[in-house]
This record gives sequence, C-alpha cells and structure tokens, in this order.
Amino acid sequence: MATLTLKYPEVRNYIAGEPIANGSPRMDVHSPLDGAVISTVPLSTAADLDKAVQAAEAAFPGWSGTPIKERAQIFFRYRELLLKNREELATLVHTENGKTMDESYAEVDKSMELTEFACSLPQLVQGEVLEVSKGVECRIERKPLGVVASIAPFNFPNMVPHWTIPNALMLGNTMILKPSEVVPISAIRIAELLKEAGLPDGVFNVVNGDRAIVEAICDHPGIKAVSFVGSTKVAKIVYIRATSTLKRALCLGGAKNHLLVLPDAHLEMTASNVVASMSGCAGQRCMAAAQMVGIGGVEHIIDQMIIEAKKLVPGKNLGPVISKASYERILGFIAEAEKAGAKVLLDGRNPQVEGGADPGSGPGGYYLGPTIIDHVTADMRISQEEVFGPVISIIRAKDLDAAIAIENANPYGNAAAVFTQSGGQARQVMERASAGMIGVNIGVPVPREPFSFGGWNDSKFGTCDITGKSSIEFWTQLKKTTTKWNPEGKTNWMS
Ligand code: NAD
Repeated sequence: MATLTLKYPEVRNYIAGEPIANGSPRMDVHSPLDGAVISTVPLSTAADLDKAVQAAEAAFPGWSGTPIKERAQIFFRYRELLLKNREELATLVHTENGKTMDESYAEVDKSMELTEFACSLPQLVQGEVLEVSKGVECRIERKPLGVVASIAPFNFPNMVPHWTIPNALMLGNTMILKPSEVVPISAIRIAELLKEAGLPDGVFNVVNGDRAIVEAICDHPGIKAVSFVGSTKVAKIVYIRATSTLKRALCLGGAKNHLLVLPDAHLEMTASNVVASMSGCAGQRCMAAAQMVGIGGVEHIIDQMIIEAKKLVPGKNLGPVISKASYERILGFIAEAEKAGAKVLLDGRNPQVEGGADPGSGPGGYYLGPTIIDHVTADMRISQEEVFGPVISIIRAKDLDAAIAIENANPYGNAAAVFTQSGGQARQVMERASAGMIGVNIGVPVPREPFSFGGWNDSKFGTCDITGKSSIEFWTQLKKTTTKWNPEGKTNWMS
C-alpha cells in the first residue's frame, strides 16, 4: 500500500509542553475543501486524559501563584504571535474547516480580540477590602478553580478555543482542551504558540479524541470545571454528566436564530445583512440566521435578498459544508420542506463550483449554494431543527406580535434580530424576544469584548456567559478572608 503523504504531520496530544505519541487508534482528518486526507488524529483514552490532568495539576501551584500581571505579559506576547502567524493560522482553519480565507482571517482576528480582553483582566479582577469594625478587615479575592477543561466544536477551530483559553488561564487555572476530532490541527499550533510566548509547561494541554474523552473529562475527579460548545443534544449530556460529578459546567448548544423583518426596513442593508448571516461560514455558525419572519409585505426585501445571495459563488466566496453526512442532512431538510408545501425561491442544490470538482460526488467538496425557502410553516421540521447550512426559511406573520410569538415558541435562544427603521418596533423585539443576544439591524449580533457571549433556553446550560466579563465569574471562586489586627484591644461587639 502506498504511503500517504499528509499535508500536516500526524496530530498528537500535547501534554506538559510536548507533543506526545500514544498507541491509540487514529482517525483520518479530511479537508472539506476536497475530501483529501490531510492528517490523522488519535482517539485517546481515559489513561491519556489522566496524564494530561496530572501535568495540569503539577503546573497549577506555580501558575496560580504567579501574579496576574506577570501572567498578562505572556498573553501580550501570545497576542503578538497570533498576529505574526496570522496567515498560517488562517490557512489551517481554511484547510481543516473549509471556510473561506477571508472568514478564516476573521476567525484569527477574533482570537486576537479575545486575547486582548484577557490581557485587560488585571484591571477587572481586583478584590475588595473594607475595615468592617475597629481593626477588623474583610477582603474578597478571586481565586482560580484548578484544572479546567474546554471542549470545542468543528465550526471554529481557532476562535472557539480562544473563548476559553486566554480568560481561564489568565485567571490562574490550568487547562485541558479537547478539540473537535474533525478539526484537530489548529489546536496544536495554538499550544505551540502559547509555549513560544512563555507559558509554563503543563498549564495548557490538548487531548484529542471523540465521545470517550468527553465522558472521561466529565468523570475525572481532578477536573474542577468543564466548558462545552457544540450541539444541544451533546451539551445536555455533558452538562448533566459533569454536574453529576459536582463540577462547575457551562455548556453552549445549538441555535435556531430568528430574524424579524418589517416592511419599513432599509432595503439594501437588510437584504445584505440577512444573506451574510445565513451564508457566512456556509451557514455553520451558531449565530447564523436560520429563519426569517417576514411581517406583512416584505416581497421587495426578499427579491433583494435573492439578488444578494446570487453574488455568492461556491468555491469562491462560499465554502463547503463540513461533511457528506452534513450535506445530505441539509438536502433532506430542503426536500422535506418542499414536499410539505414550502417554495424554494433560490435553490442552492447542485451548484456550479468555481474551479471545483463535481459537487457532492467526490470524497469531499460538499458545496451548497445559498438557498432561500419561502412559505415555511412552524410545524415543518426545517422550522424546528438546526439545519447548519447556507439555508434560510421564511415564515410569514401578520404582525409583530405574531412574529414575536413564533420566535418565542422555538426552543433555542441563542440570537434574534429585528430589521426596521422604527425605534418602537425594535424596542418591542429587544424586550420580548427570548434569546440571549439581540440584534437591531444586524444579522450576526455577536457581542464584542468586554461584552459577553451566551444564549438562553436550549442554547445554553449553566450560569454565566462564556466570554467577556461574565466569564470571570465562571472561571474563578471567591475567597473571603477576615483579619483582626487591633493590638490596642479596642474592640466592640463586632470584633
Ligand atoms: P457536536 O456536539 O457534535 O460536538 C462537539 C464536541 O462534542 C466535539 O468535541 C465532539 O467530539 C464531542 N461529542 C460529539 N458527540 C458526543 C457525545 N455523544 N458525547 C460526548 N461528546 C460528544 O457539535 P459539532 O457538530 O462539532 O458543532 C456544531 C454544533 O455546535 C452546532 O449545533 C452549533 O450550533 C454548535 N455551536 C454552538 C455555539 C454556541 O455558542 N452556542 C458555538 C459554536 C457551535
């Protein structure tokens, strides 16, 4: 059998500052761009995880005892390394995830912003101290939790790990990252750059694998907190399993984001925002527009959306979806909706792929053009489940109350947006939409640092958000100390 030349070296676990070979079975890593095998990843065992936990436990006293301003120096250097290696990091994302180079650059840029926020944490985490009675002081300090774990999905191989790494480590924790086994390459480069920035060995470790490693993380007594980003089905499993072993857990799940569009909305801006939201990263974003609720006469906006969507060329400015299974699942949603009476206004099936092979027929390259489906009803499966592709369904509502009721009825709650020029109507949606992140005339309302990212309902389990100021609460615990230094003995009843 011919030896396969891999585009990237075999992915190894990264423990105590070193890539570690293990004897686990390996899985091929395919590029969604063309299906080529670009690397292999180990499906590690609980014993491998235990080695990483031991390394992280050993590193914890030294790291948590390092003053936060010294920790920040490492992350200032790390931020510069992200910039210096921006092109390589973006290329990795492009190759292993399939998103366009522009989208991949944006992902790395967002990782830099997340790191910049972490560098500002010394300004945000001072404790409190007060003389509560003569000679008696109470103080509160934020202390790290210990060894924590971060479990990531396939759709942002660089950015989602940065939702947790800089903040959790800056706050004194040591970490084990479990990347998606589908996109494991970026994480190894992240580990190498952290080491290059001066992070002590063992503070950050990577253990690769699938479900078995996630379960081992939930069960390991040495791990104090688990953050998870992925589908709602798995988020629920992880939340229940991790908290049943008394860990702190924050599990972000899937989404079904509704965009409410009123007839008075700015035509070009609304159409381009809705289309960018549904199709960016091939619709594989938890902030993607999944369902537009058209309120009254919005035909002119839909027509303009079709013009905008036609500017997207698969293989040029629109990437493929992650896998054949994903592709087929999306096609199933479209066919089923059509059969149930919905009207496909723009059909992205079987697209012409710029410079590409026959779409969907080879080992990879599962491209779909943007797809706009009108007259979807709330009872259709496409309206209820996450599609995760460049597809938007349009539901019609007679007025704003009916539109908000449709949004409220969906079990998810990551994001919702309204497009209108009426402040009063926008205010209604801001107040009444049941979602954690609201957009007014913006299709992807991701809060920028220092504001925090996190949904509601079935899009998030656990308290706190995963980024920004709210994450400080998740990654730390409060130590309350009361001291008495009153040698003169001047006491009162409180002393
Ligand atoms: P996924 O749930 O399949 O996988 C996420 C992680 O869980 C991976 O590391 C995977 O190895 C592991 N995993 C998979 N099945 C498991 C199981 N049965 N038990 C334990 N662990 C398991 O998600 P994905 O397909 O990689 O990512 C896409 C999903 O992530 C979408 O639903 C998307 O909406 C969601 N997502 C949500 C957010 C958010 O902020 N809410 C952000 C990004 C992605």
